[in-house]
Amino acid sequence: MAKDIEISVVIPAYNEQENVELLYRKLKPVLDKLRKKHEIIIVDDGSTDKTFGVLKQLHGKDNSVKVIKFRRNFGQTAAFDAGFKQAAGNVIITMDADLQNDPEDIPKLLAKLDEGWDVVAGWRVNRKDSFSKRMFSIFANMFRMLLNDKLRIHDSGCSLKAYRKECLDDLDLYGEMHRFIPSLLAWKGFRIAEVAVKHNPRKFGKSKYNLTRLLKGFLDLLVVNFWMKYSARPIHLFGGFGVLSLVAGFIINVYMVWLKFWRGATLSNRPLLLLGVMLVLLGVVLLVFGILADIMVKVYYRSPRTAYSIEKKLE
Ligand code: UDP
Ligand code: MG
Repeated sequence: MAKDIEISVVIPAYNEQENVELLYRKLKPVLDKLRKKHEIIIVDDGSTDKTFGVLKQLHGKDNSVKVIKFRRNFGQTAAFDAGFKQAAGNVIITMDADLQNDPEDIPKLLAKLDEGWDVVAGWRVNRKDSFSKRMFSIFANMFRMLLNDKLRIHDSGCSLKAYRKECLDDLDLYGEMHRFIPSLLAWKGFRIAEVAVKHNPRKFGKSKYNLTRLLKGFLDLLVVNFWMKYSARPIHLFGGFGVLSLVAGFIINVYMVWLKFWRGATLSNRPLLLLGVMLVLLGVVLLVFGILADIMVKVYYRSPRTAYSIEKKLE
């Protein structure tokens, strides 16, 4: 039954009791009009309000609505991950549950995808969020482009996106890194386009993102970039610095030995000696780190893993 599904819509929802039904009512006609078999997967990310109750009712009325309920709040990234693993469609669409994204934009994304792109990201040209959040986002997007030149889109944080299924096969998501999925995919060689989409202010419920969460997202950006550059061979990074440090320390120490034995100098008052010894030690430590990281990466690539716990599924 799940085999012939063409479009899966994945929606994370955390305390969105007022929004989910309205969203469903706007989304469903758009999907019906496409005349393609679809499913709507809503991931209840440990809501403490009536979200799950509403979802259960929707599932009862319409069996294209599927619900995954997390045991507690694991975050939007984990919710996307669980939704992706469940999704059966050839095309997967993601969006927020809070009605800030507009379902009416979905046909636009699909049309672009049909031009031959692997991912189409929404670009909130006229974004309706607080000033501080917009600033942070512009800064983060600029920083992202500085670190990684492969992906050239304006707004990688917009949830409204369309993916071909194969993009999301064996993609591991952690922390707050859902915003950087396009970066990871560009790095893997997928082709990514963007289209301008509408963005609405949030009417019901509260935003779940505060400064600490944004900061975590920022750190994830660093890790994602580290991962893209060095995940295959972390020794290339650590080893590189390690060897540099060893060589510098070695040269300093040779100079010190020369001073002592050929010039008869006393070394006890030479801070340079300390530096030389420290650089050698640091070099050894970095090399060992690199080798360990390499071993860990090999182990990593072998183990299947998830960082969240599902309580219930309504399929
Ligand atoms: N969300 C989630 N788990 C979380 C935080 C948010 O599933 O821990 C969902 C939330 O319900 C919404 C979407 O992710 O559908 C975006 O969250 P929010 O609207 O709070 O973010 P903002 O638009 O303020 O950046
Ligand atoms: Mg929102």
